[in-house]
Amino acid sequence: MPELPEVETIARQLRGLVVGRTVKRFRSLWHRVTEPEPAALFARRLSGRRITGVRRRGKFVVIDLEGDEALIVSLRMTGQLLFHEEAVRANPHRRAHIDFADGTALEFADTRKFGRMAIVEASALEGSTERRRRVGEPLHRYLGVEPLSRRFTVRWLSEFLKRRSRSAIKPLLLDQTGIAGIGNIYAIEALWRAKIHPLRTAGSLRADEIARLHEALRWVLQKGIRYGGASRRDYRDARGAEGRMQQEFQVYDRAGEPCPRCGAEVARTVVGGRGTFHCPKCQRAPRARA
Ligand SMILES: [Zn+2]
Repeated sequence: MPELPEVETIARQLRGLVVGRTVKRFRSLWHRVTEPEPAALFARRLSGRRITGVRRRGKFVVIDLEGDEALIVSLRMTGQLLFHEEAVRANPHRRAHIDFADGTALEFADTRKFGRMAIVEASALEGSTERRRRVGEPLHRYLGVEPLSRRFTVRWLSEFLKRRSRSAIKPLLLDQTGIAGIGNIYAIEALWRAKIHPLRTAGSLRADEIARLHEALRWVLQKGIRYGGASRRDYRDARGAEGRMQQEFQVYDRAGEPCPRCGAEVARTVVGGRGTFHCPKCQRAPRARA
């Protein structure tokens, strides 16, 4: 599942590939891609629009259009945005594509079909933080702070953890309305680096642990970007290439292997419904309450 580094990699590549191009037509091959907007209406709104920028917000690829609107793409589990210099053989997992006026194309492929696209006001993506999402409201309106932005300071993190003091730290890191862009893999790697057990409550973290977590989050995310993201099953960048970050995982998907720091056996548990990996020696379990 693409997280911040994977989406950032795609957005950076697409920036060099699609900015300045004009949409000739949009075609949907899976009706839910543009849901709840009908694909025909969606296509009319995109037609003739010039692309002015590509960026990332949380785990969304944001393709800015002329006129303060943006096409946002949620890749979810298996979505891929693939740029093509020319028309290519139909991919059985193609769910939508944009043909540009100059003959190039952007394909949205998605084996599991959870990925979605929407056209939104560009300003709707900014400034929202830690607002509780209401049922039925699209996620992009409730994205929290960007962990690689200047706003994400140790002080911000420590106040955030105080406000959510009873939550277990790992599910809290995955909550996109608090910190945007972190998913299962990078949360696991950051907690290992910071030597914090995934079940510790946010309120139990000491100041030195919060500072370590802040450093670890930024470190693993930046490393993920440097390695072009992590490819496990489906992630590919905009050129169709795999990332290399999967070779750098310290504990993720390494149950039974020695912890690279202390040699103890990496454990697999389930926290908040998600498979989790940690070192039982470096990341001490919270003490049970009497
Ligand atoms: Zn260890």
